[in-house]
Amino acid sequence: MKACDACRDRLPLFLSGELNAEEAEETRSHLAVCSRCGREAEDIQRVDAFLRGAFDRQPVDTRALRARVLAAIPDEPAPRATGDWRGVTGAWLAFLRRPGPAWALGSLAFAIAAIAFLAWWRQTPAVYRQVAADHREDVVQKVKKSGWLRAEDAVREFTQAQFGDPSLAATLAPEGSRLSRVRLSRLGGDDYAHFVYAEADGREKVSVFVRWRRRPDETLPGRPAERTAEGWPLYAAARGETRLAGFDSPRMLVLVVGELPPEEAMRLARATAARLRERKTS
Ligand SMILES: [Zn+2]
Repeated sequence: MKACDACRDRLPLFLSGELNAEEAEETRSHLAVCSRCGREAEDIQRVDAFLRGAFDRQPVDTRALRARVLAAIPDEPAPRATGDWRGVTGAWLAFLRRPGPAWALGSLAFAIAAIAFLAWWRQTPAVYRQVAADHREDVVQKVKKSGWLRAEDAVREFTQAQFGDPSLAATLAPEGSRLSRVRLSRLGGDDYAHFVYAEADGREKVSVFVRWRRRPDETLPGRPAERTAEGWPLYAAARGETRLAGFDSPRMLVLVVGELPPEEAMRLARATAARLRERKTS
């Protein structure tokens, strides 16, 4: 299962040719022997092929269907975030909203979802894609994985060993939430501590991903949307309902992720930065 986890983590980067030679070779060897990971790779490639095929076909009039689909898509509020991926998705939606014949797609709803997904996938920096996917697997889909720590003593020991701070889990906790579990997640070649927080009713809601900066000048990718009160760069990304807000503290990279209203992830990240600022380990 460990090999599969590593393979899944790397799959998007493998397919887009962004892995180094050694990681690419490991991924290739695993795909040769693991049918489950092989199927996942095929699924991604099938969506890609579908989209290419869709635009080779003849135009037909599907205005009624298109109107229904578009009516079902909630209007996105104006983004504060900067990433180019939003612009790409927006351009596709603008294209689909134009009057006149639409393209003969097998299912327009699926095509719109697939286009939005691919636009997001290609344009969103890998770390945001990986963090969003890890959060969705663990917190939304509840995929079983090993290595979770839940007991208070074990968590304190873990954060002491990883970050030199036995109470880091509490420092990062969103107001009104408490730690549910934590594990090390290997994402894009880096180990992140993945903290999962639950609300008072026990429902898990928000993930916080943290790791040390490898170099003093290392930052999260993309252009910061704004700065925290501490002056730390604050970044934003989203995939559908899943919002990400991250910041560079002097020594760490921190990402807050959840199925949240548009501004909520940013608010939580600002509050997290304010609490972290008080700690020596920030
Ligand atoms: Zn596998």
